[in-house]
Amino acid sequence: MLNKDSILRIALQKSGRLSEDSFGLFKECGIKFESGTGKLKTSSSNFPAEFLFLRDDDIPGYVEDGVADIGIVGENVFVESNRKADISYRLGFSKCRLSIAVPRGVDYNGVDDFQGKSIATSYPRILGDFLKKQGVKAEIHEISGSVEIAPSIGLADGVCDIVSSGSTLLSNGLKEVEAIFRSEAILITNKKLSKEKHETLNKLLFRVRAVQTAQN
Ligand code: ATP
Ligand code: ZN
Repeated sequence: MLNKDSILRIALQKSGRLSEDSFGLFKECGIKFESGTGKLKTSSSNFPAEFLFLRDDDIPGYVEDGVADIGIVGENVFVESNRKADISYRLGFSKCRLSIAVPRGVDYNGVDDFQGKSIATSYPRILGDFLKKQGVKAEIHEISGSVEIAPSIGLADGVCDIVSSGSTLLSNGLKEVEAIFRSEAILITNKKLSKEKHETLNKLLFRVRAVQTAQN
C-alpha cells in the first residue's frame, strides 16, 4: 500500500542543460512520470515520487527549505547558492567548468595579474573564494547574463563564467586562463528527511547505482 509519508518530492530543472539527462535517469531507473506537458508538478505512476519542474537556480533553496526532498542541480549552482543540503550522489552528466578568461590580446602571466583589476561574473561567491585563496584582491562585478561581453564594453578586465567547449569565449575574443571550479550534476537531499522518505531515497539510489554501474 502506498504510504503518503514515503512519497519523495523531487525537484528537476524544467528545461535546460540538466533536464534531458535528469529525466533520462529516472526513465532508466524504471520510474515513470509525464513530462513536457507544461505541468509544474506530476506524480510517478509506479514509484512513490512527485516531481516539481523548476528553474535550476531555485532548486537548492527548495531542497534546503524542504519544499522538495531532493533535487538535481549543477554543483556550480549549488555551491554558489550557499544553501545547506547533503550531496547524496554525483551523477556525472552536465559536466562543465568555471573559468576566468581575458581578452585574447592580453599577455597573461598568472593569477597575480588580477591584483587591482576587475572581473565580471554571475558566480561572485565561487570567484571570491578562489581569489581569496590565491591572495588576489580584485573587484568582482556581479552581472546575471552575457558575461562574455563585459571586457569588450569596458566593464571589466576579465570574466569568470561556465565553459564547456570554449567556443563562446573564442567568438567573444576571449581566452581561458584559469579553470577555478569543476562541476557536474549532483543529487542533493534535504538535511532533515523523514525516516519514511529516507527509505524511498535509498530505493532510488539503489536503482541509480545499478544504472550507472551498467553504463560504466
Ligand atoms: P534555468 O532556465 O533553469 O535557470 P539556466 O539557463 O540557468 O537554466 P542552463 O544553461 O540550462 O541553466 O545550465 C544548467 C546547468 O548545466 C549549469 O548550471 C551547469 O551546471 C550545466 N551546464 C551549463 N553549461 C553547460 C554546458 N555547456 N555543458 C554542460 N553542462 C553545462
Ligand atoms: Zn538558471
